[in-house]
Amino acid sequence: MRAANPDTSDKDPHPMSHPSFVPLSSLRPGPAPDELVPAAPPLRLMFWELTKACNLKCQHCRAVPESELAAGELNTRESFGLIDQIADIARPVLILSGGEPLYRKDVFDIGRYGVSKGFRMALATNGTLVDDDVAGRIRDAGFSRVSISLDGARPETHDGFRGIPGSHAAAIAGLQRLRARGVSMQINSTIARHNVHELPDMLDLALSLGADALHLFMLVPVGCGVELAEREMLPTDEYERVLHWFYDQSKQVEIDLKATCAPHYFRIRAQRIVEERKQGDRSTPFIAHGTRLKAAPDPAGGRPLSTMTRGCLAGTAVCFVSNMGEIYPCGYLPVSAGNVRQQTFGEIWRGARVFRNLRDYDTLTGKCGECRYTGICGGCRARAFAETGDYLGEEPFCSYEPAADTAPVTAMAASGGHPHH
Ligand code: SF4
Ligand code: SF4
Repeated sequence: MRAANPDTSDKDPHPMSHPSFVPLSSLRPGPAPDELVPAAPPLRLMFWELTKACNLKCQHCRAVPESELAAGELNTRESFGLIDQIADIARPVLILSGGEPLYRKDVFDIGRYGVSKGFRMALATNGTLVDDDVAGRIRDAGFSRVSISLDGARPETHDGFRGIPGSHAAAIAGLQRLRARGVSMQINSTIARHNVHELPDMLDLALSLGADALHLFMLVPVGCGVELAEREMLPTDEYERVLHWFYDQSKQVEIDLKATCAPHYFRIRAQRIVEERKQGDRSTPFIAHGTRLKAAPDPAGGRPLSTMTRGCLAGTAVCFVSNMGEIYPCGYLPVSAGNVRQQTFGEIWRGARVFRNLRDYDTLTGKCGECRYTGICGGCRARAFAETGDYLGEEPFCSYEPAADTAPVTAMAASGGHPHH
């Protein structure tokens, strides 16, 4: 059993009472950034909140809806500068999001600039502003993929959650306009109590619309999600059932199906594969079909490691930049790593304490600290933070009870081989 993390000095008894994110000064003590630090892992995905402004009023959104652009957002010149800084250390997939990124007039310029610097650029939009003109401009800017959020198969489910009647139809129309122009499309769905029964229909809808990917995002109680959590979070056993359903579907459907921010899906997947192999069925590889092909290329020319080799990649392969230039492990974990207006992005990615803690799996506590699946799962650090005030604490929505006498399941996915059971 690993020792509990002795440092509790940054624990906040009211973790979600902050109006915004945790200030830099409240980070865990640890080596200063200018001390020798281990080499940072390659950044694979970066979510970039271009603006907090949005035309919808989604119940779960981490951004506070605003009708006007916030003062102090990174401007176009600063955005180009950030792309240059990121290019100094990596070429992650850059996902421009919001709020609603299409509220930014320079979103196409930023997209084009990223493409010119060798990045794969993606756009995460609610889809409702995508008319014929906007669809053409998105394609012409060179975005590799556009994701559109749909939180229900039925219009009333989605519109009720998104707060605007007609937004389901508008999102689908936007998706179809982009698809007609040859843009690769992904549907993102936030799964909660109100729509979990529509999952099979959501999958059918995604297939009928010709989407290339369906990513199911399990609700994280952050931002507006805090108030939602009590009535909308799936109970742990239902969560487990959904992830088993998800595994069954992933073996059957011709679509890139991902359970996003459900790290224990990797534990369930490993458990199911082991069970299948005991029955003599070796048909499912430990790396999902096509995962490597979809992975971001390694700028150093090495093997393109998958972006999906571990459940939670916050701070290890993924990060988030806010509209104000603040860097976080992900958009749902409000612990700042630094601000690109004060430090270079490379310094933050290499040296920030929160990133270094997240990269050291031995720092995890509670069940996740004792679990043999830590290496492939890790639990959701944002849910742990929301529940306990400690982002290294245990994932509260996992039903697995670690046993003391079992060997760790290591990073089997990286080799495509057998898990160490
Ligand atoms: S902490 Fe990890 S699993 Fe949780 S929301 Fe962030 S990236 Fe997703
Ligand atoms: S206890 Fe934590 S590390 Fe283990 S499977 Fe559950 S969430 Fe993952």
